[in-house]
Amino acid sequence: MHFFKKTADLQAYLSYQKSQFRTIGFAPTMGALHQGHMSLIEHTNKHSDISVSSIFVNPTQFNDPEDLEKYPRTLEEDINLLYDHQLNTLFVPSVEEVYPVEGIHTPDFNFGKLDQLLEGAFRKDHFAGVAQVVHRLLEIVRPDHLYMGQKDYQQWTIIYHMLQQIESKVKLVMVPTVREKDGLAMSSRNRRLTPEWRSKAPLISSLLTETQQNYTSKPITEICEHAILQLEHKGFRPEYFNIVDGYNLENITNSDDHAKVVACTAAWAGDIRLIDNMILKDSKK
Ligand code: AMP
Repeated sequence: MHFFKKTADLQAYLSYQKSQFRTIGFAPTMGALHQGHMSLIEHTNKHSDISVSSIFVNPTQFNDPEDLEKYPRTLEEDINLLYDHQLNTLFVPSVEEVYPVEGIHTPDFNFGKLDQLLEGAFRKDHFAGVAQVVHRLLEIVRPDHLYMGQKDYQQWTIIYHMLQQIESKVKLVMVPTVREKDGLAMSSRNRRLTPEWRSKAPLISSLLTETQQNYTSKPITEICEHAILQLEHKGFRPEYFNIVDGYNLENITNSDDHAKVVACTAAWAGDIRLIDNMILKDSKK
């Protein structure tokens, strides 16, 4: 596995690979890696000649300084896991490398309501930070394919729009959510759950599965209210449980009128904020 800390060194290596007509697949991460991330690496290895991943805890996407400080950092374990999964190239830049003092140019993206809804309503400026770092990393890596998880459905949607706005040729691939045996979506934050919250956390995915079974037979508002009540009943602090149009992320009232429908939720399990979603309908599949 090739390991780079400096942008210039990574770019020199990748330029050589491109001159040999090798395709580059890229999966950016914030580390504290798990099997969900490894699924991205497996997709990258399968569909590109050179698989590249990055570990960078991006300060500009955290609106809560404590969350940034407490974000798990497990570099040594991460490197071992990536090595075992045959990653070709790992990039672990410093903050100065990603955001050099001379400044970087980030286009003025317009995401309409996409970055205001769901997560955007609770994490101010989060997606501006995400778009900034992904744009910057793409500028550095210049991949052919970009792999991102369904776990962060709204993030994926926003990056899709970002690529359209800059008329990028990068192909964005959505990798399905990897779950623990009990249904909990894998997340770097799960390792911070107390044993009590870890045992309760699968409620989130079971409510999404229940929604999958009910969304055509019960009123949508009723399903969402029921889910919120169930979460509250078990002591979670839900922020939202919405059934939305899979393209514009706006709440829907009747799934028949929409080609793609997704249930999205965020809830605090004690001090840990968990998000999850389930694609309920995708007519184009
Ligand atoms: P993060 O390190 O949390 O920024 O995530 C890096 C990438 O891994 C993002 O594209 C996430 O959507 C993706 N990812 C995180 N958790 C999962 C999961 N459980 N299954 C699939 N992809 C995931």
